[in-house]
Amino acid sequence: MPPLRDVIRTHGLTASKALGQNFLFDQQLLGRIARVPGDLAGSEVLEIGPGPGGLTRALLAEGARVTAIERDRRCIPALAELGEAWPGALRVIEGDALAIDHAALFEGRPHVVANLPYNVGTQLFVSWLSAEWQPWWQSLTLMFQREVADRIVAAPDSDAYGRLAVLAQWRSVPRIAMPVHRSAFTPPPKVMSAVVHVVPAEPPEGVRLATLERLTAAAFGQRRKMLRASLRGMPGALATLEELGIDATQRAETLSVGDYCAIAKVLDAAR
Ligand code: SAM
Repeated sequence: MPPLRDVIRTHGLTASKALGQNFLFDQQLLGRIARVPGDLAGSEVLEIGPGPGGLTRALLAEGARVTAIERDRRCIPALAELGEAWPGALRVIEGDALAIDHAALFEGRPHVVANLPYNVGTQLFVSWLSAEWQPWWQSLTLMFQREVADRIVAAPDSDAYGRLAVLAQWRSVPRIAMPVHRSAFTPPPKVMSAVVHVVPAEPPEGVRLATLERLTAAAFGQRRKMLRASLRGMPGALATLEELGIDATQRAETLSVGDYCAIAKVLDAAR
């Protein structure tokens, strides 16, 4: 295959700011990202936002069968050339990933890999974590701005710990697989990035996402306040803290993900 920079030139793929296009060209880095999910030989992979196909090539080289969703029509001919180089291994779908039913594209459970504009990536990530469990995906390998990656994996007692950490950790296991320097992208974004890898876990019994969301919204909505103040408006919450032996003079960031699940479970049992 021709070098990616030649593909960009041949197909006139100047990076579009509106589509959040920051391309990766370093084949070694792309290979490392493609290996984050583990051995992909013969596995189904959903790639969102392939652009000129740098990460797509790396995934195909690992032996994956790739379904790629790209919104930018200009990229489709470049991706078609990739498909010719790996016959039968690449399916390209032109469209907006936010408007597509990803689960319906697969019979089994694919790995998801994406280097997306940060706003689109976060929106998809939250929707995938909020959908029914077991999820339709086997793992997620996603590029985020470093600050968002830190919030996803944050532990209690840190500024980064909040609603996103609880959503990401209560029934899945996220980790930062690798930091990525801003200079790796063309054009370079303003901030540093990191690849986050997430695998689903067994959900705790008797915990409903809706209750967990209401609880964490109340607690972290006023994160500088003590729980006895921030949870005052939530019926049953203060009595539940007492029942569980959780000190109500603590602040939201001191409670573990397990604490939030335990509170939500008691609240639901009392409904
Ligand atoms: N994966 C390529 C790489 O690593 O070099 C391109 C990454 S670039 C940050 C993001 C890509 O996502 C662009 O190709 C852009 O056109 C595409 N994109 C943006 N919004 C999208 C959406 N809603 N649905 C599908 N693709 C989208």
